[in-house]
Amino acid sequence: MKITVASGKGGTGKTTIAVNLALSIKNSMLIDCDVEGPNSHIFFKEPMVKLKDVSIPAPKFDLDTCTLCGKCVDFCQYNAISIVGEKLLFFDELCHGCGGCKIICPVDAITEVEHYVGVIEKGGTGDLPVYHGMLNIGEPFGVPIINELKQFADDKKTTIFDSPPGTACPAVETMRDVDFCILVTEPTPFGLHDLTLTVDVIREIGTPYGVVVNRDGIGDDRVDRYCEKENIPLLAKIPNDLEIARLYSSGVPMVKGLPEYRKLFEEMFDRIKEMI
Ligand code: SF4
Ligand code: SF4
Repeated sequence: MKITVASGKGGTGKTTIAVNLALSIKNSMLIDCDVEGPNSHIFFKEPMVKLKDVSIPAPKFDLDTCTLCGKCVDFCQYNAISIVGEKLLFFDELCHGCGGCKIICPVDAITEVEHYVGVIEKGGTGDLPVYHGMLNIGEPFGVPIINELKQFADDKKTTIFDSPPGTACPAVETMRDVDFCILVTEPTPFGLHDLTLTVDVIREIGTPYGVVVNRDGIGDDRVDRYCEKENIPLLAKIPNDLEIARLYSSGVPMVKGLPEYRKLFEEMFDRIKEMI
């Protein structure tokens, strides 16, 4: 089974939910897809070890063969190629490695070279393996790393994906092709606003989903009312407990420092299983 933990914005407690859910259920693994700033591994003592580099195929232009026809410029949706006067310019930081320009070039002036965008590392234990990806500094696009990370999901285990925040391509990629998505929010007007955006996206994707309210007690009941009105399952509420925050800042998972919370995650998992 594959479960993604997502949220409309950073700092809502997405990683807290992902880590503690993975620790509370049997036979699980954790894959942190927040490749711009993975932090799930902080809660595990074992060091992360590099598994592999991740690259995308980037075009290399043979300028002697190129006729400056402009077909690749027109084709590239990411504006990574431009012709200025008699010069073809390539902006590798905009290239998504789709390979389309190579296919479309009428004179075979384009070959492909590997462009390294980041790495995948593994840590955790045999009981609970932890994977994460790290986008190289300056690289704008984490989806290729997320796609490779998702390949590490073991069908014999329950895989928890910690999604990048927001509703852009990296988050959508992490919410796609999974069995269930947990949307984490806070009971505040900002939390509700970001939740509604994420709900719009997840409905479009079609993945079953439910909501977890983190830091319950800091705001109002608008998230509850929204979920009720929209018929969205409210999976759990994590109280705004100072002890949880203290443990978090020390890198101690909630269910280790406060084992009484383990039941909350076990029950959440049971509810999810009933819904898929
Ligand atoms: S590989 Fe795709 S994204 Fe990169 S330059 Fe060519 S068409 Fe543009
Ligand atoms: S499609 Fe080929 S020939 Fe045309 S501008 Fe691009 S590289 Fe040059």
